[in-house]
Amino acid sequence: MLTNPIYFDHASSTPVHPEVLKSLSELSAVHYANSESLHEAGLTIQTMMRKSREAIASLLGVLATDITFTSGATESNNILIKGIAFAYQHKGKHLITTSVEHSSVLESFQDLEKFFGFEVTYLPVDNEGRIKSEDLKKALRNDTTLVSIMAVNNETGTIMPIQECAQIIHSYSQAIFHVDGVQALGKIDLNLSTIDCASFSAHKINGVKGSGIIVKKKNVQCHPLITGGSQEEGLRPGTPNAIHHILFAKTLRLALNQDKSWIRSIKSYLVDEFNQMDGIVINSPMNGCSDYILNISCLKVPSQIMLNWLNQHRIYVSAMATCLNRDAQPSHVLEVMGFEGNRLNGVIRISIGYTNTMEEAKTLISIIKEGIVKYGRD
Ligand code: PLP
Repeated sequence: MLTNPIYFDHASSTPVHPEVLKSLSELSAVHYANSESLHEAGLTIQTMMRKSREAIASLLGVLATDITFTSGATESNNILIKGIAFAYQHKGKHLITTSVEHSSVLESFQDLEKFFGFEVTYLPVDNEGRIKSEDLKKALRNDTTLVSIMAVNNETGTIMPIQECAQIIHSYSQAIFHVDGVQALGKIDLNLSTIDCASFSAHKINGVKGSGIIVKKKNVQCHPLITGGSQEEGLRPGTPNAIHHILFAKTLRLALNQDKSWIRSIKSYLVDEFNQMDGIVINSPMNGCSDYILNISCLKVPSQIMLNWLNQHRIYVSAMATCLNRDAQPSHVLEVMGFEGNRLNGVIRISIGYTNTMEEAKTLISIIKEGIVKYGRD
């Protein structure tokens, strides 16, 4: 008989919260009209989208006019990074980001370098995956127009010093400060008052896929990447995925109200167990790390073998960011943190969600132990 799957890959995506799922089926059955239509069916959806926007804004401490709905954080990151770089290029073509960003950020910057003549500084990180504020200060120039720094790293859980960065950027430059807040939303406190713009995704917080947001303050100029209609104030034209965006507000409220002590106790159990295990090292920092992500290396078994072994037991984890899984390259994040050899090749990312149980954590540990006995090499 097949056992129930054990899912420890919540940094990739999460199960939809039952309350969101219920509303999804109820709303989708009735509200299929285009939210831009001027008949009553369209106007009703428009009103629900406005209410969702207002609720999200109030939960995030920003204005409703600061919120733009997108299809997810990859789109939000692309729109903001490229759109802001284009809008301010008359002031300068120097941009700053970090070397450990998600591929949707890194590749946006690489495109700007390769095809549009921008110069990008990629800030290095220490062995905990954190940038140093002195490096940021040194990198800022008169022609720097945009700085993009993630709040929480998706592979290691490392929390970046966002407030300190905001203070440096605003004191020493005119640059716009963008934050990829995907792995922070609903998980750590993120004060948006000092940040000019940010990107988020619903499916990382038990919401539905196909819905993301941009938070962009009024003073920030952003050249639209796609043109077409006047939806979302022209920043993201095209018929919006209205029901999914309407559900973002509920998703966020549920995520913010979740009991986080449960996640903390599962992570702390896993950390204690891994600390006692021969051939395992923990790559996530002990302090200044998200409770939701634990990155380890199995020094005696390559990631792919351990992942297959866990998969055979219907236990789902990742080796690195899911978007890069198929590249078969070592993680760029762990590489720039200075790891090499077996530590780099044996990486496993365990990401915890509110549906995980302590029983599941115990099973994960015991199957990893068995995997090391079965496949371990010295
Ligand atoms: N940024 C970070 C830090 C992420 O972890 C992810 C997804 O893994 C993204 C951006 C992209 O989000 P989406 O897949 O919703 O486009």
